[in-house]
Amino acid sequence: MLLLLLAAGGAQAKRWRARHVVVIGLDGWGAYSVPRAHDIPNIRWLMEHGSYSLRDRAVLPSASAINWASMFNGAPTEMHGYMKWNSQRPDIPSMIENERQKFPSVFSIMREQNPEAEMGCLVEWPGVLHVIDTLALNYWDRAEDYEQDPDHLTRLAERYILDKKPNLLAVCYVALDHEGHVNGHDTPKYYDMLAYLDTQVGRVLQAIRDAGMWDDTVILMTADHGGKENGHGGSSILEMEIPFIAYGKGIRQQGEISDVIMQYDMAATIAEVFRLRRPQAWRGQPVWSIFSKK
Ligand SMILES: [Zn+2]
Repeated sequence: MLLLLLAAGGAQAKRWRARHVVVIGLDGWGAYSVPRAHDIPNIRWLMEHGSYSLRDRAVLPSASAINWASMFNGAPTEMHGYMKWNSQRPDIPSMIENERQKFPSVFSIMREQNPEAEMGCLVEWPGVLHVIDTLALNYWDRAEDYEQDPDHLTRLAERYILDKKPNLLAVCYVALDHEGHVNGHDTPKYYDMLAYLDTQVGRVLQAIRDAGMWDDTVILMTADHGGKENGHGGSSILEMEIPFIAYGKGIRQQGEISDVIMQYDMAATIAEVFRLRRPQAWRGQPVWSIFSKK
């Protein structure tokens, strides 16, 4: 009996809305691109069978480290303090730090409230790992060679899902942002890359099925920021509006929702799936309307 209680999640897991959350983040994925995209059947399937918004708003400045930090740390720029696209530590002191000297992330509070949880974060751009509390994770890895080996990250995700059936996993692709910088946002090559990444999303979804997790998983898709022409960082809507998609156990099938959603609501939404107490410092709130009653 004791062993049962100590198993991942244990008694607390019975309160969870779902046993698994898989976040798929596409760096540089502007919401503007979704209606115009071709060949993204997996993403469209998640949108149609779950809840989504194309008006989720990035924090300023609309660049990477800042927004990955807000996504997972539940707070705006001024609070976590990561101010530059490639910040590896806060540029102004975080307003609060946990015992690992990090602003409390969704990974940290999951670890503190569910010590046995299995959690991972897999990235193509290693900068993501600097803005979250990696010491709270069981596993992290990088696939920085995505230009030579485009599905390296997907293979890491497939293997981890099948081997460990993680409770919380983030898979962060950067190839679309790279395409935006090199060939431009809203260009044929940008949409071709988005179509390619949709095939990778399909493989991650298949791994979730193959692991036997499908009926007990919430899948969340989003981006750090959008972009225009060959970059981002500014305050135009093209740079600031990103998709928010939720599908899975306990998520309503209602298509587009009208809730006001901010980048830092993602952490709070993940926390709500696991019924976590949210830090007082967080400013994000769960996107309540996606959840079925109870
Ligand atoms: Zn980015």
